[in-house]
Amino acid sequence: MLSVEQSVAQSSAREELSKIVSTLRCHLQARARAGIRVLPRGRSLVADRTMAAAPNLMAGSEEDFFSGHAAVYEAKSLEGLRAEIGDCRRCKLWPGRTHLVFGVGNPKAQVMFVGEGPGRDEDLQGEPFVGRAGQLLTDIITKGMGLKRADVYIANVVKCRPPENRNPEPDEVESCEPFLKKQIDLIKPKIIVALGKFAVQCLLQSKQPISRLRGTWHDYHGVKLMPTFHPAYLLRNPGDKKLVWEDIKKVIQELKPA
Ligand code: URA
Repeated sequence: MLSVEQSVAQSSAREELSKIVSTLRCHLQARARAGIRVLPRGRSLVADRTMAAAPNLMAGSEEDFFSGHAAVYEAKSLEGLRAEIGDCRRCKLWPGRTHLVFGVGNPKAQVMFVGEGPGRDEDLQGEPFVGRAGQLLTDIITKGMGLKRADVYIANVVKCRPPENRNPEPDEVESCEPFLKKQIDLIKPKIIVALGKFAVQCLLQSKQPISRLRGTWHDYHGVKLMPTFHPAYLLRNPGDKKLVWEDIKKVIQELKPA
């Protein structure tokens, strides 16, 4: 039986250890970004097998072997992917989260909506787009497209809430984006609707303004991508709802059988 002091010491040692692991992971990612590619011994077997299992652009790079993503590419299902992500501590967002917000919806959805990252409501409930902006997205899906939320798939670029809803930072995106890529790879949607500047610029690797990118089809590794305004932006600028409706009509048209 542990004394109170021993159990406090044990839990702070555990916390310390997890901070060390997290710091080490960030350090290895930085090394990888800097082009330092000295891999641990035994790399060839594991790495080559993993890369062979994920040969296309959805796959990662050698950097992933430093960042704990290798197993992610081997996931065969969304459940498997979620299990691989586990109690994620790959970036600095984890200490601030209540729930990791993985994504919801039909694993075989034809349409996938991608937002930026969970806000307060999403963090508390563990589900994307459930706050005020989420209600608007739900209206777009149900009233606009005549679908149910459960017919589509909804996810974000980052799975943990950034503090004070700030934009995710590059290292956070770098840690988390492989999960989104793998979700897309598993779901194989016909169409991705990217919501808002952040998700659009991130997925398209573009610096162009959302006002320029929205409303036209783009390609995301072979998947048609329609950028549109974020529902939170629409709450502040309801006059632009008609533009989103224009974009959604194009999506509806594309979904119609030929
Ligand atoms: N905004 C987002 O980008 N994603 C959510 O899940 C909620 C709000």
